[in-house]
Amino acid sequence: MLAQPRGFCAGVIRAIDIVEQALEKFGAPVYVRHEIVHNRHVVESLRAKGARFVENLSEVPTGAITIFSAHGVARVVEQDARTRGLRVLDATCPLVAKVHGQGKRYVARGRVVILVGHAGHPEVEGTMGQVPGPVVLVQTESDVAALELAPDTPVAYVTQTTLSVDDTRAIIAALKRRFTDIVGPDINDICYATQNRQSAVRELAKVADVILVVGAKNSSNSNRLCEIGLEAGVPSYLIADGSELDAQWVQNVAVVGITAGASAPEELVDDVVDALRRLGPIELSTLPGIEEKVEFRLPAELLRARPSVARVS
Ligand code: SF4
Repeated sequence: MLAQPRGFCAGVIRAIDIVEQALEKFGAPVYVRHEIVHNRHVVESLRAKGARFVENLSEVPTGAITIFSAHGVARVVEQDARTRGLRVLDATCPLVAKVHGQGKRYVARGRVVILVGHAGHPEVEGTMGQVPGPVVLVQTESDVAALELAPDTPVAYVTQTTLSVDDTRAIIAALKRRFTDIVGPDINDICYATQNRQSAVRELAKVADVILVVGAKNSSNSNRLCEIGLEAGVPSYLIADGSELDAQWVQNVAVVGITAGASAPEELVDDVVDALRRLGPIELSTLPGIEEKVEFRLPAELLRARPSVARVS
């Protein structure tokens, strides 16, 4: 049983399009800072077409085409690129850029920004480095209790886009109990794609005996999907592709649920389905769910005749 929706989101499609069109327009090599999205198969296929992945801009030759990943970057990285004369195409997801904008506005109004997110994730590093003022990171409700800020400090919260909707709600509630002068976006910043995939995996958990989440180990939203399956009491496994399927997980199981993180291509879902088929006959169906119609515009330098629409459902 396949979850709907699953897999690629509009931000990931845009980021991959940017690398592919940059290769087409400017020729190889183009340099990409960090994995463009957290998926080894995507990275390998772009590498085969001439993309070079680097962790540090010092590895990029002066003047070369340089692409920032979908997770966003700190201002110091943007500054570094300018100083080194790099030609930058920014694949930061517009929904991540929106969080940067919110954080900047809150700091400009004299508030301490509290970022709800996971330490070490590139999106969190980018957001903390984009907001020009005091930003503190909280990962759990106990982090909120441990904050060394007076209860009447003017604060504002923003969140990483790919967290669990439920965890975030609980942390924001704890923040609201802890601070008397607190503001935040009308709804949290968990993006539409994360929310839709999390709702879909909850529906999947109602009918599946075991859940396979196709995604990379370092993909935040894929990990959350796996956690939600487990929280619903269904054994759930995060696997990169069909080769990681363990036959024991699906032994004597009637319904295998499959979903995929926002950075996992559909061909990897097909690969897992093929791996199941090799174990025995299967019947394949898809749960009803939201049809997403979101597209993000490419950077102006790459816009072609093809119409590009920005819609959010
Ligand atoms: S998961 Fe959400 S925030 Fe991340 S790239 Fe996709 S649409 Fe953008």
